[in-house]
Amino acid sequence: MTVIGVDVGGTKIAAGRLADDFAIERTVVIPTPHGGISILESIAGLVADLQSDAAQPVTAVGVGLPATIDSETGLVAHSVHTGMGDFNAAGPLRDLIGLPVHLDNDANLAMLAEHRLGAARGMRTALLLTVGTGIGGGIVINDAIFRGGRGHGAELGHVTVEADGPPCQGNCPGRGCLETMCSGTALTRDFRAFAEANPDSPIGRLHASSSLTSITGLDLAQAGDADAIEVVAAAGRWLGAGIASLCNTFDPDIVLIGGGVSDAGELLLGPARDVYQARALPPTRRAPLALASFGPEAGMVGAGILAADAT
Ligand SMILES: [Zn+2]
Repeated sequence: MTVIGVDVGGTKIAAGRLADDFAIERTVVIPTPHGGISILESIAGLVADLQSDAAQPVTAVGVGLPATIDSETGLVAHSVHTGMGDFNAAGPLRDLIGLPVHLDNDANLAMLAEHRLGAARGMRTALLLTVGTGIGGGIVINDAIFRGGRGHGAELGHVTVEADGPPCQGNCPGRGCLETMCSGTALTRDFRAFAEANPDSPIGRLHASSSLTSITGLDLAQAGDADAIEVVAAAGRWLGAGIASLCNTFDPDIVLIGGGVSDAGELLLGPARDVYQARALPPTRRAPLALASFGPEAGMVGAGILAADAT
């Protein structure tokens, strides 16, 4: 069976044609256009492109969105970062593409990919945090993705870790959410705050050259800069506090960290693990904290699995 998985992000849409074993045969990527209808038309164009040279007919399409999908209405309901909301995507996409189309939240699909093929394979209960611009969450309970009562669940990035912390991003009315403390956006803020207080430091000089972001700051940490390492470690400790609460709640077999910020590896995971292990209740400290297997292709592969499972 050949399926297509599509991952719609805030800046780009990536679509891949996947073989029987979910190996990626070909990928196409375009910038995300503005507006729901333009996004749907772009997805249809990518699918047509990937169908054009497929050796076998494509049977279904899966689409991951940075939004929650209401399981009763089927509407794309709420998105913290893109402003996407209250529109019917599945029906119009089916009409545009002429194939079955299945939608899910992007982090749920990344969790699905990890559970079926990656680091959470064989685990009955697992958690995934995708740490990027924001923080997405995925939960597997008893071998099934848990989406909450109406499909809006598993937004683990919006668990409060600091009750009076900074206001959250985008459309989240919360304060001190995990993603306000240790997402890529939070790291950029923290690197810049350090730079302004310490203009003569390497971080400060990077800021003066206007090229300080979470990515360049992480590069500095990986190159061994002690200040940058501490900024990343501070974010990791917040992550660990959140993970301790999540482990107390779910008692998972494994906790995975994915997303672009996970490129920091043990610079982030080490301090997170220390705090998680110190604070979780003793029986729930058993879950290893590990990197996700999939990189940026996680959502695309998960979307393909969703489509294949539903066919
Ligand atoms: Zn939030």
